[in-house]
Amino acid sequence: MTALSVSNPAVQPVQYLKSVGPRRAALLGRLGIGTVWDLLYHFPRAYHDRSLIKPAHACVHGEQATLQGVVAAAQEQKPRRGLTITKLVLQDGAGIFYAVWFNQPYIKKQLPTGTRLLVTGKVERGYGAVQVAVSDYEVLDGEETLHAGRIVPVYPLTGQLTQRLMRSVVRQALDEWAGQMDEFLPPALPARYHLPALSTALVQIHFPDTEREARRAQKRFIFEELFLLQLVLAGRRRRLVRQEKGHSYRPAGELVRRLLDTLPFQLTAGQEQAWREICRDMDAAAPMNRLLQGDVGAGKTVVAVLTLLRAVESGLQGALMAPTETLAGQHYLSLCRLLEPLGVKTALLAGGMKNREREAVLAGLQSGETGLVVGTHALIQEVVQFQRLAVVVIDEQHRFGVRQRAHLQYKGRHPDVLVMTATPIPRTLALTLYGDLDVSTIKELPPGRRPVQTLACAPAQLPDVYRMILEQVREGRQAYVVCPLVEESEKLDVQAAVDLAAALAAGPLKSCRTGLLHGRLKAAEKEQVMHAFRGGEIDVLVATTVVEVGVDVPNATVMVILDADRFGLAQLHQLRGRVGRGAHQSYCILVSGARTEEARTRLAAMTATTDGFVLAEKDLQLRGPGEFTGTRQSGLPDLKIADLVRDWRALETARSEAVKLITADPDLTAPEHRALAEELKRRFSRSGYLEIS
Ligand code: ADP
Ligand code: MG
Repeated sequence: MTALSVSNPAVQPVQYLKSVGPRRAALLGRLGIGTVWDLLYHFPRAYHDRSLIKPAHACVHGEQATLQGVVAAAQEQKPRRGLTITKLVLQDGAGIFYAVWFNQPYIKKQLPTGTRLLVTGKVERGYGAVQVAVSDYEVLDGEETLHAGRIVPVYPLTGQLTQRLMRSVVRQALDEWAGQMDEFLPPALPARYHLPALSTALVQIHFPDTEREARRAQKRFIFEELFLLQLVLAGRRRRLVRQEKGHSYRPAGELVRRLLDTLPFQLTAGQEQAWREICRDMDAAAPMNRLLQGDVGAGKTVVAVLTLLRAVESGLQGALMAPTETLAGQHYLSLCRLLEPLGVKTALLAGGMKNREREAVLAGLQSGETGLVVGTHALIQEVVQFQRLAVVVIDEQHRFGVRQRAHLQYKGRHPDVLVMTATPIPRTLALTLYGDLDVSTIKELPPGRRPVQTLACAPAQLPDVYRMILEQVREGRQAYVVCPLVEESEKLDVQAAVDLAAALAAGPLKSCRTGLLHGRLKAAEKEQVMHAFRGGEIDVLVATTVVEVGVDVPNATVMVILDADRFGLAQLHQLRGRVGRGAHQSYCILVSGARTEEARTRLAAMTATTDGFVLAEKDLQLRGPGEFTGTRQSGLPDLKIADLVRDWRALETARSEAVKLITADPDLTAPEHRALAEELKRRFSRSGYLEIS
């Protein structure tokens, strides 16, 4: 008997369960349930405890209770059109009570006199009688009960599926299959962490004997989910580490030293440390896969430039990929400014370039004549070819998916990869998102920075806000005004920005030079505006969130965010990071008539701290991981039962166990890991997560 065809619930369509025909199978399909395995892994979202059966006389008015009785008589009332009330008289030994159904006339036939049943619902007492408005019931026929008289599962459902149907289908699947579900976790783990075996856990998560058993079963599936994910990441990492890069570097030499000499500042301890870690990776035989983490303004760019420069110095090529045109343009300028004095040329590959220019850049990269290139995801297009790409730096990694990262890697022979993020990531999330990367963190900001003062204010105080901008401009500083987001429509955003810029230029900010930056401008127009702002020809830049990422104008000291409650914490923190980049005291003003409790909590967090990591933890609590870093785009599978905030302990345990296992048996070829390898393949092969470059 082959494991696959007959006895594997993973490939067994639900339709072959006795009570499931094509119609029900289609309904289940809408919940993403195709196989018996899917069904068994469709966990309850809650439980109702109906295990306590109360005699009618002990019930209190208004309570939810489960009662037991034998049908003695039935009545039907039609008090008005469209309403049928079915009332059964039930005998429970001590006396009688009434069970009431609304608009379910068939109940009378289904539950004839003499039927013994359990009913659950809200109890009403009046005139000495006890009446139950039935929300669920179950006939007692000697078999195990599913809907009452026990702890009852409540499932996430859609459409025409009912809890009753779901419970009986799941029960049937459990009866047929639970005993044959082989444990795939290595046996030591359930023992070490007191987790129930797979078959027991499946039964107990759906139909728990006690609440404690339900919790133990949940604990197992949470661990299982995190462990499998960490195994995939540890496996990926292991395979990356075993690769050999197709290039080697000369020791950091003349050019690197000259760059360090020409910088107007000393590297901070964090930058030094990161640079040392990167050099160690570059000197190793396996390609670097490192995340450089550091709050906005921590100075990651210099570290990236050093890394790229070392490639050029060794006669190799480097590429820097940024998520937006604005940011790519700005990186391009920084690189030119820093590297031109050293005689190193940088190319820019952006959208909206003239064909001739573009072709020249492509030719230079292909021939190897061009050592460095900066670009957006234009860099990962097919036509871009390198002669000997050695270093890939990706800025703001969370904006790119895992796949895009891999695409750029393919362009070289196992190049060294440095990904940078200014979005502080809570540790638990980093373990999940970047479990396959080494991490360097720049903790401190460069010396002399003063923390940005953050204030929240109501729209009525806007005149004061504009007066403050004027004052700062008079002192030679610059300011940003970020426009409210209009939901779901970039076009409306842009219109709002255009209107606002016009209104400000004609009104409160008449006396200064204003400019406008938004996503619909052509690349060249954007560059023109940024150039003018950087050069001090624009005092106040009215912008949409395109300024959110990476824009670096140290002379800007005021960031005004209108309708601040519409932005997430991560976004607000990024926006605030545009100021406080120079020696002058900077201000961030959050204007909002905060409407919801959550929005007020967010703004309060912003005014309370400038620490990105604290804010990141807060954001994770408030919004959940998916929205925070765009895990959706990152290609991470959705978690079914685990919660990265709540289950951080389990996550760390799962990670260390996964690393241990992969170290001992990298390809999971040991016989005792065969079931585990199968399970991984089943869960992850479609996601592309098992592949690496
Ligand atoms: P981020 O980490 O947000 O990308 P940047 O690399 O843009 O930060 O650096 C922010 C600003 O700090 C830049 O103007 C940069 O020149 C400056 N800077 C970087 N490192 C140092 C340092 N060690 N001392 C002083 N200023 C620095
Ligand atoms: Mg940056």
